[in-house]
Order: sequence, then C-alpha cells, then structure tokens
Amino acid sequence: MGLYENRPKIFTDAKGNASGFWPDVTKEIASRMGWKIRYFHGTWEECLNKLETNQIDVMPDVAYSEERSTRFYFSNEPVYVSWSLVYARKGVDIQSIIDLERKKVAVLRGSVNVEGPEGIKKLIDTFHVNCTFLEVDSYLRVFEMIDSGEADAGVTSKDFGHIHEAEYQVNRTPIIFSPSSLYYAFSKDSSATPYLIEKFDTYLKQLKGDQGSIYYHSMENWMGIKPTGKSVLPTWMFWMFISILGLAFVFALMSFTQRSKVKTRTKELAVEISERKKYEEMDKLKSYLLSVVSHELRTPLSTVKGYSTMLIDYHDKMDEQERLNSLTAIDKAADRLVRLVDQLLDMSRIEAGLIKMEKELTDPVHLIQQIIQEARVRFPEFRFETDIEKPNLPMARLDVNRIRQVMDNLIDNAVKYSENIKKIDISVACLDSSLFFSVTDYGIGIPESEHNNIFERMYRVEQKTPSAKPGLGLGLSISKGIVEAHGGHIWVESPSGQGTRIIFTIPANA
Ligand code: ADP
Repeated sequence: MGLYENRPKIFTDAKGNASGFWPDVTKEIASRMGWKIRYFHGTWEECLNKLETNQIDVMPDVAYSEERSTRFYFSNEPVYVSWSLVYARKGVDIQSIIDLERKKVAVLRGSVNVEGPEGIKKLIDTFHVNCTFLEVDSYLRVFEMIDSGEADAGVTSKDFGHIHEAEYQVNRTPIIFSPSSLYYAFSKDSSATPYLIEKFDTYLKQLKGDQGSIYYHSMENWMGIKPTGKSVLPTWMFWMFISILGLAFVFALMSFTQRSKVKTRTKELAVEISERKKYEEMDKLKSYLLSVVSHELRTPLSTVKGYSTMLIDYHDKMDEQERLNSLTAIDKAADRLVRLVDQLLDMSRIEAGLIKMEKELTDPVHLIQQIIQEARVRFPEFRFETDIEKPNLPMARLDVNRIRQVMDNLIDNAVKYSENIKKIDISVACLDSSLFFSVTDYGIGIPESEHNNIFERMYRVEQKTPSAKPGLGLGLSISKGIVEAHGGHIWVESPSGQGTRIIFTIPANA
C-alpha cells in the first residue's frame, strides 16, 4: 500500500477504547486494504480539531451537519443512522422536553445533538424551557455526571447510551431527537483524503451488501440490531422511531399547551389579586383620608369660622386688642390649612414621580443659619442650639426651598412633640462626601419598633397622651421623598433613649 501503509490514523474514545461497532468496521476496512491503524486518543472536540488540522486522517462516528461540511469531508456512504436520547438520574421524572425546566443537563461539547439545527439547545428554545447546560468532553462524563448527581439529566447518542446505560444510575427518558446519518469524516487538508474516501466508500458498500459481514455481526453484537435486509436502518425501526418521535412531540406539545394555559391563568390570577389588593388599599386609604383630613381640616376651619363670626357680630363691642387677637387666630388657622393642603399636594406629586428639584449650588451653613433665625421667630419659647462644622463645609447642589421645607418640617415636629424641655439642637457636618443635617429634641421620643414606620405615608405613632397632637402623618414621608430625590437618606435615632433625632444626608459637591 506504499504511501498509505501506516495510515489511516483513527481516533478512539477518551478511554482509548478501540472495541465496538466502529472499530470493528474500521479494522475490517483497514485489513482489506492492508493498512495499519494508529489510534489517537482524545476528547471529541480535540479529535475534531486534530482532524481539521490534518493531524489525523479519519474520524469515525461523525454526524453530518452544514457547519461540519465546511470543516471536513465526509464519506459518501453513510455508515448507519442514529439519534440522540435524554437520560435522567434515577428518581428524576422526565417525560418530555418541558420537564427539563430548571434542570442541569450534561451534554457533549461541540456535538450536533447540542449545537445543530435539531440539537437540544434549539429544541429547548422552541419550547421556551429554561435549563442549564453543563458541557463536558465525552459521553462517559455525561453519564458520570448524572450518576453523581452533578447533573439531573444528560444527552448521549443512542448507541453509546444503549451500551453503557446499565453501568450507571441513569434512566432512559422518552425524549428522542436529532436523527442523523453517521459517516466517516476526513481531513480537508490531506492529499490522501480523496483516495481514502473512495476506498472507505467501496468497502463500506461491500460490507453493507453482505449480510454475513462483520458490519452486521458487529451491529448485532454491540447494538442488538439484527440485519433484516439491505437497509441500514431497519424499516420497523424507522417507523418505530418516527412514531416514538411523533408521540413524544404530541405529548410535549400537549404538556406545553397545558402548562402555558396554567401559567397564563396563574399570571391572570396574580394580576387580579394584586389589583384587588390595590383596591382594598385604596379603599382603606380613602376612608383614612376622609377621617383624618376632615378632622385635621375641621379644627382650623372652626377657628376661622368662630373668630370671623365673632368679628362680624361683635366687632363694635370688641376692643382693639381683642380684634387683633381674633385676626391673629384666623391668620394662624389659615396658615395651618395652607400647610395641610400643600402636604396633600406634595404627597400626590411625590407618589406620581412629578416632584421636580431645582437644584443650585448652595452654602449649607448660610442656609441653616437662615432656617434657625426664622425658627427662633416662629417659636420664641424654644432655645435653638447649633452645631455647625465651620468653615470646612463644602457646597452642595440642592433645591433650597425643598430642603428648607424638610428642615422646617423636622423643626415643627420637634416643637410639636416636645413637652417640658423646650430645647432643639440643629447640626450640619460633612463626612465621606456627604453633608449630615440633624434636628434633635428632648420630647416624647419614638419607640424603636416604630423607627421605620414613621417615614411611611400617613403613618402616625399612637398617641397615649390626652392632648393628642394634630397632623396628617405626611411630613416625614414627604421629607423622605425630597431627601431621596437629592440622592440622600433619612433616618431616626433616639439619643440616650430620650427625645428624637432625625438625620438626613445630601451628597456634597466635593
Ligand atoms: P405628623 O403630621 O403626624 O407629625 P409626620 O410624618 O411628620 O406626621 O410624623 C409621623 C409620626 O412620627 C408622627 O405622627 C409622630 O408620631 C412621629 N414623630 C415625628 N417626629 C417626631 C418627634 N420629633 N418626636 C416624636 N415623635 C415624632
């Protein structure tokens, strides 16, 4: 055989196993030609790469695919037809493709039953199933992974599966796919390829044409397939395969339709439940709003009504000071009404995401000094102490009116919830590129269990004192909305278990 005496070089499986149907047939062809075979061991991918780079001449058991035909030449004569199977770990119930949802599936890297147009990945996509593929280098490893529990399922060729399934804790599932003709593949770069293809075709034809040849003996020996005629795939097996495939498909389709119906209905129910919850919440909110708002509005409105009626009916009987006192009471009540309405409007703007911050570069020290000056005028009976980390404070980009609103709200609360100690501390400092503002009072304090709740919309801590303080429970949630719109945080602390300190941060313009 001269030139080809030591050829062809043929790959074997990862264990160097050169027995089986393919080695039998290949050895027979080689011996008819007088060739000596040198086997190369490696993973499937390694061998395909070796074939592509002409380090081996022939590789058996290669399924034809468009992509592969660009890398290799194939014998014209198919050796036989095979397909792929899904195996599951014993105890894992897999009846259709859909059951692979959220499963770990071991597959052979680079195989047509994984990447090909009829491969498992495509199949999984078609059925919108989510599973994780674990790519390994050999079918042996696929079985090992199922056996050890690293994978829930795995894909092998039917022939490998039939031969080795008994050695592992695996169950054959009804999932059959990717039928393909298996060929000898040849290197595109080897000058021997045309000759080899011709010889392999000739001898394969001869072997397939002889019912008593090693081809049929080996097929029966290794795969349990008895020759029934010339056809490579027995007719009964062809039809059985088609029917199983058909049944599996119908079953998968039914199961898929059923599951998608259940999924759709579950989604609809979830939407219904969340809508109902929303309505219930809105209903609760509506009644809460009605009771609180009507109560909160009624108090200042009755003040306005009472004093204005008195002024109309008795103005000539009142002295100058009484008239001034009545007008001041009306003025204060009107202020409170405006504040309540503003709070309601702000809350709905924040909830709708419509609150806009008009930020400008601001000196926080100057801002705090102004706020304290005004607070001293509003609450002359209170002592305000300031702790300002001057002169090192950086400027900040903030909406002056909104931050003033937050500070005023915290100061109003500090005043409202103070009892005997009429002292309020206000501080501003800078730490880690953030400005820290705080307002501290020595009043009734807030139980720790309520620390997160008080920033919720319309949440008020239950007041046990007889003189309940007015309020809608909106001030802190609005403050939170404003602070967060500046990229800051707000929280509460109880210094030494007495009184309340509310702290908020605003990023400094470092
Ligand atoms: P309100 O209008 O009720 O004061 P806020 O949202 O401003 O609404 O405050 C929510 C709740 O947090 C108040 O109802 C009160 O129970 C509690 N709270 C807020 N600030 C203080 C404080 N400085 N001292 C004690 N409790 C406070």
